[in-house]
Amino acid sequence: MPVDTDRLDLLVDELLAKVPPATTDPTAFMGEQFDRGLAWVQFPEGRGGLGLTPADQQHVARRLHQAGAPLAGLRNLIGYGMVAPTLVAHGTPEQQERYLRSIFTCEEIWCQLFSEPGAGSDVASLATSAQPDGDEWLVNGQKVWTTVAHLARFGLLLARTDPDQPKHRGMTCFLVDMHGPGVEVRPLYQITGEAEFNEVFFTDARVPDASRLGAVGDGWRVAVTTLMNERVAIGGAVSRRDQGPIGDALRLWRERWLGVTSPEAQVLRDRLVSSWIRSEVTRLTNLRAAETRQSGTPGPEGSVAKLAFAEENKRIYELCVDLMGAEGMLHSSDYPKVRPGGITLGTTDVHKMFLRARANSIEGGTSEVMRNILGERVLGLPGEPRADKDVAWKDVPRS
Ligand SMILES: Cc1cc2nc3c(=O)[nH]c(=O)nc-3n(C[C@H](O)[C@H](O)[C@H](O)COP(=O)(O)OP(=O)(O)OC[C@H]3O[C@@H](n4cnc5c(N)ncnc54)[C@H](O)[C@@H]3O)c2cc1C
Repeated sequence: MPVDTDRLDLLVDELLAKVPPATTDPTAFMGEQFDRGLAWVQFPEGRGGLGLTPADQQHVARRLHQAGAPLAGLRNLIGYGMVAPTLVAHGTPEQQERYLRSIFTCEEIWCQLFSEPGAGSDVASLATSAQPDGDEWLVNGQKVWTTVAHLARFGLLLARTDPDQPKHRGMTCFLVDMHGPGVEVRPLYQITGEAEFNEVFFTDARVPDASRLGAVGDGWRVAVTTLMNERVAIGGAVSRRDQGPIGDALRLWRERWLGVTSPEAQVLRDRLVSSWIRSEVTRLTNLRAAETRQSGTPGPEGSVAKLAFAEENKRIYELCVDLMGAEGMLHSSDYPKVRPGGITLGTTDVHKMFLRARANSIEGGTSEVMRNILGERVLGLPGEPRADKDVAWKDVPRS
């Protein structure tokens, strides 16, 4: 439970009175929210927080959501949910001062530059290099699947700084200017027809040493903070009962099948009830995880949430398409190839969500990788064989 609900309620009331969401520009509202420590209340004071707990944050988020406040988490998903906690855990005071407020107000959108053509699930095998050059680093290589890179002002880059070390030990994290020379962003179109994500090419891009996040060679530890927060950002949201994907399925059932008693309707109803139960179990599990998390980086419960969310989302939107009958086979738009202004979230376009949901079990770590994490870290099963664990990265065979 939140530690001090009355105090938080008072602070939220004062914020809403000073900048009523209905009549205040969203950037101005979020700036005021940050300055009052109500951005991420679990962060330290002066960094958008009050030094409280994630459970307190849930309470504040609920209150502000009810009041119609703008949501930084939707507009700057990667910055808000992944980069900000990484900056708090590993950033210098100067870096925190420089970046946190503009992340929260969404004035500066961020992307995550981890995956490469030859390094996805095994991201620690990545090849993009950062070589020291005076008080700068020279970056060369290619990233892929970089969500919102076309909108991003900055990117969180994981690069290889020492190929003589085993793969996990020779990497370093950087905060990269996406508009700087030597950084090229090219769209990648998804099954929905949209290019939410991109390829990013680095050609002698210069990054100042002051933009290094964490110690040289400590990139894996920094990246793990980002990845653990990513799983919670993707799968750990606590929606209200009957909202979100299961809400779409319930709506279609009521519109098209309520009162129908055919065998087909009974089969569909069974699938709907099974999905409803699984969605509710996931929702309550996420609620419990959010209430009990005291502070710091989330643990493997984030992988439970991410796995359950991904698999259920796919099942629910398959059900939605079946609930639509023959109409389910028709795409609802003319399938334009566009570069959207953000990540597809919360649309009621069921056809689009059916297609978009395929990515849920890949992005942020595949379902197979989530199961590996749960097997090893929760169930204590034997780990996967890791033959390259102690071998210098440059000596590991690569295709
Ligand atoms: C919509 C979307 C957005 C994304 N956004 C970003 C982003 O912003 N930034 C970023 O850095 N990356 C991003 N990614 C990349 C994502 O993290 C990777 O796609 C993911 O980690 C899988 O890597 P891969 O695609 O290279 O597949 P691979 O790693 O090549 O995997 C291929 C298959 O092998 C399986 N597999 C691999 N290893 C194991 C294992 N050890 N045990 C069992 N099975 C295994 C996988 O589950 C998968 O089925 C995004 C991906 C998608 C789909």
